Amino acid sequence: MNVVLISTYELGHQPFGVASAAAWLKAEGARITCIDLAVESLPGSAVERAELIVFYLPMHTATRIASETIRQVRKINPAGHLCCFGLYAPVNEGFLRRLGVDTVLGGEFEEGLAALCRRLSAGGPHAAEGDQYEPRISLAKQQFRVPDRSGLPDLSRYAFVQMGDGERRVAGYTEASRGCKHTCRHCPIVPVYGGRFRIVQREVVLEDIRRQVAAGARHITFGDPDFFNGPGHAIPLVEALHKEFPDLTYDVTIKIEHLLKYARYLPVLRDTGCLFVTSAVEAVDDTILTIFDKRHTRTDFIRVVALFREVGLTLSPTFVAFTPWTTCQGYLDLLQVILDLDLVEHVAPIQYAIRLLIPAGSKLLDLPEVQALVGPFDDMALSYPWQHSDPRMDRLQAAVLQTVQRGLARHEPRQTIFQRVWQLAHQAAGSEHAPSLPYGVPRAPIPYLSEPWYC
Ligand code: SF4
Repeated sequence: MNVVLISTYELGHQPFGVASAAAWLKAEGARITCIDLAVESLPGSAVERAELIVFYLPMHTATRIASETIRQVRKINPAGHLCCFGLYAPVNEGFLRRLGVDTVLGGEFEEGLAALCRRLSAGGPHAAEGDQYEPRISLAKQQFRVPDRSGLPDLSRYAFVQMGDGERRVAGYTEASRGCKHTCRHCPIVPVYGGRFRIVQREVVLEDIRRQVAAGARHITFGDPDFFNGPGHAIPLVEALHKEFPDLTYDVTIKIEHLLKYARYLPVLRDTGCLFVTSAVEAVDDTILTIFDKRHTRTDFIRVVALFREVGLTLSPTFVAFTPWTTCQGYLDLLQVILDLDLVEHVAPIQYAIRLLIPAGSKLLDLPEVQALVGPFDDMALSYPWQHSDPRMDRLQAAVLQTVQRGLARHEPRQTIFQRVWQLAHQAAGSEHAPSLPYGVPRAPIPYLSEPWYC
């Protein structure tokens, strides 16, 4: 069977889901063509002769881009079986089926994808329209296969790590676990995993990293939603990794609650090559943190910043800067906290412009106040639209986004972009002159990925 695996976008990483799918489908005897539209164009000939065309939808942006490509692919190959897999496939099932998608797979998708390939190869029965044989969401405890990256573009074509001293490191990407044991209301993982997570076996992760190191990686991003969901898995893994590759660096994502609970492991991260830890702080307003059910407070965040300074690790906080509950004073307070904690160099400028996204299946919709404020689902934006009750906030968000995008295009330093955002926020609050910023000695830039994290 000829299979085309398509990724549209995964934050500048070589797509893990496509590489994992390729390994499982090759084991079924399929002939695979991998296409990453983030770095290459769609080869019409491969699509034309494919019996199965599979789209990887790990994030909102990827899904929006894929919706256009699905229409294009349907025209090139009207008879091929279309499948979408990844976090955003099951929650957008209705929309995807209207585009002509036959099968959607979420969660631990690999066994379902292999079963689909077997069924189609054997000329097995076709499901009724709108139905399918394979489970839409599987949370099976799979024995993973080592991802097959041989058909994907070279790692040097993806996001790299920009070191503080100006050096650039080729970055690889892997996942040591999927899902999350928490249930934050705004998180897209919750509707699929419902508070559960699954680990990828240590030997599979290590072999995947070995192959990426052989392909030139000098840094690995662990894409686990939370690396400390299972510290008993994560810590021995990074210890083994460091023993085998003492010069390899890595980064992970860990929630504030876990950084405090497992503070004893922070020196281990530092000593095994962890360059930075991304943490979804989201807000410094405890009311918003409660609405999100983040299970941390403003004080917890401040404690973590101090802890990181003590240990000598770099924290890279992310925020949902604009929510229906963010006031003008609240936004100014967020900027002030970032300034007071000396985190301007630590925050990717796009974070100042992030607006709450309410995708299909969001647990925020369980809240009557959220139901009251959103409009009908928008098929183009793939989310429920909302407007702030204070129109200044929507105008401020648009202005901040434009300023940040312009600053990034001009390669302006983070301090400069922060200063512009600071001025915009003070203007929105009615001050003609923003207080001048207490910048002293320029801070050394911290390491970061060239493609910042967002949804
Ligand atoms: S926001 Fe983070 S901690 Fe919360 S459910 Fe999502 S991945 Fe887990």
